[in-house]
Amino acid sequence: MVLRVAVVGSGPAGSCAAEVLAKAGIETYLFERKLDNAKPCGGAIPLCMVAEFDLPPHIIDRQVRQMKMISPSNIEVDIGQTLKPGEYIGMCRREVLDGFLRDRAEKLGAKLINGTVHKLEMPGLNTTDPYVLHYADHSSGSLEGEAKTLKVDLVIGADGANSRVAKAMDAGDYNYAIAFQERIRLPEDKMA
Ligand SMILES: Cc1cc2nc3c(=O)[nH]c(=O)nc-3n(C[C@H](O)[C@H](O)[C@H](O)COP(=O)(O)OP(=O)(O)OC[C@H]3O[C@@H](n4cnc5c(N)ncnc54)[C@H](O)[C@@H]3O)c2cc1C
Repeated sequence: MVLRVAVVGSGPAGSCAAEVLAKAGIETYLFERKLDNAKPCGGAIPLCMVAEFDLPPHIIDRQVRQMKMISPSNIEVDIGQTLKPGEYIGMCRREVLDGFLRDRAEKLGAKLINGTVHKLEMPGLNTTDPYVLHYADHSSGSLEGEAKTLKVDLVIGADGANSRVAKAMDAGDYNYAIAFQERIRLPEDKMA
């Protein structure tokens, strides 16, 4: 039996998850309520993301080499001072980045659904019953959308800060979020 997975939300997290799933031959459904969404975001991405996410050059709108950040308490940080020659901070437009990642996931086999997921029915414990997603399908162009359902074996909630999926699965409230990135520099002689 082929595993069916629904990814709710096609920001960077959702589209990247859908891409990995589709590449693995998993039946993947990628939901996005607003295909031209331009999320309010600074749009700064680290240089390493270009290679790691295999982004084409046109995704970078501006190559920033000098940037001063000033906190509300007037602490200043000159970001550009930490950059080495040839390095830059990539500034992108979110509608461009998100659109690129979403289209790539779709090309690799994820089925893109322009729909708003508004309810998630959870299967009972110790059953193989599916999850049932209730959503408004906007593919005809209507804002209200057509009410539809989809049954899947797994759901990935990538629907942002106010995630309905997280609420449906009673993931709890969080007062803070932790993001981390670990990079280890090996001595040159160990790199080989
Ligand atoms: C003001 C601001 C500035 C920021 N600046 C930066 C920055 O410069 N650099 C940086 O790296 N990060 C920045 N961030 C953080 C960054 O925006 C987030 O970390 C990132 O967008 C999270 O990606 P995501 O894919 O998890 O969620 P999101 O990008 O939030 O994507 C969620 C997607 O799910 C969709 N969705 C939501 N609910 C549903 C539903 N019910 N059904 C269907 N679709 C749904 C939404 O339309 C959206 O497309 C900033 C954030 C803010 C608020």
